[in-house]
Amino acid sequence: MQGEKHIDSGSRDTAEARLAPTGRISASRSRLPAIDKRSNLFGAAQEAEGLKHSNPPLALNYHGVARVSLRRDPRNLFVAPEDLQKHITKLRAWGYVFAAFGDLADQVSEGRGVNSVSLTFDDGLLDNLTTLLPLLRAENVPATVFAVPGWFGEPHPDAPWTRIMTADEVRKLAASGIEIGAHSMTHRDLSALSYEDAHGELLTSKRVLEELLQAPVSVAAYPYGYSSEETRRACRDAGFRFACAAKGLGAWTDPYALPRHGIGNGSTILSLRLKRNPRYHGLMDSRPLSLGRGAVRTWIRLMQRGG
Ligand SMILES: [Zn+2]
Repeated sequence: MQGEKHIDSGSRDTAEARLAPTGRISASRSRLPAIDKRSNLFGAAQEAEGLKHSNPPLALNYHGVARVSLRRDPRNLFVAPEDLQKHITKLRAWGYVFAAFGDLADQVSEGRGVNSVSLTFDDGLLDNLTTLLPLLRAENVPATVFAVPGWFGEPHPDAPWTRIMTADEVRKLAASGIEIGAHSMTHRDLSALSYEDAHGELLTSKRVLEELLQAPVSVAAYPYGYSSEETRRACRDAGFRFACAAKGLGAWTDPYALPRHGIGNGSTILSLRLKRNPRYHGLMDSRPLSLGRGAVRTWIRLMQRGG
């Protein structure tokens, strides 16, 4: 959502509407499946306490969207389009509303973010334009792609049979309403670099992307999800508003280490369910999330009761 950094609660509809081809919003909403109260823990909480949906904020970390065998995908970077579709359906059934990562981070920083989920895609693989974008449009779902300008047009190092988008292709994706974030300039592990080098990687990627898109780039994702205290300081000093980790690292209390959970080749609905479980990602340590914490606590109590 370049150029619209400060959109607030009403923004999700705007963001979703922007992606929706004309006339598709009501169509996609009317397809929403009913919540199966027997099959998920939240359903039990809702029944017992009369709660409306109270899911903790959630950011998921994908890479490519293609049907690829594990043999060709040793780093577990790809999900099949039909699996991503299932994830979207399931998240909706659980009561989640989709937000671009910057919007989700804004919400969390304001003590909101309950029931918000963000789909993020690292590295800027070509299928993000050719396969992911049409899928998101059809589902009316916003998303964020974290791009690596130093890789534009190159084969992906861990999947050399495909390539990274070119600068033009990234611009096209942004023009279609996908939020573009920075994923460093050359995808080095920033936590292993000096403050100066990490700052250079982050600042240069921000500037190159902003020049390309003619719009502010306010969110970053650390390569491999790794950051040190110095990396996070470098990120803040480079002018980003928010940055995210991966692999369950980070916390919703730290705007420069917001947590994301990886979804890889073969990730199941069960793993998605575990990843939104507050006990799984330590949400309860999160102080700014006072709003909705009562509901989350109730949910946890019910889960512990075996509800
Ligand atoms: Zn990456």
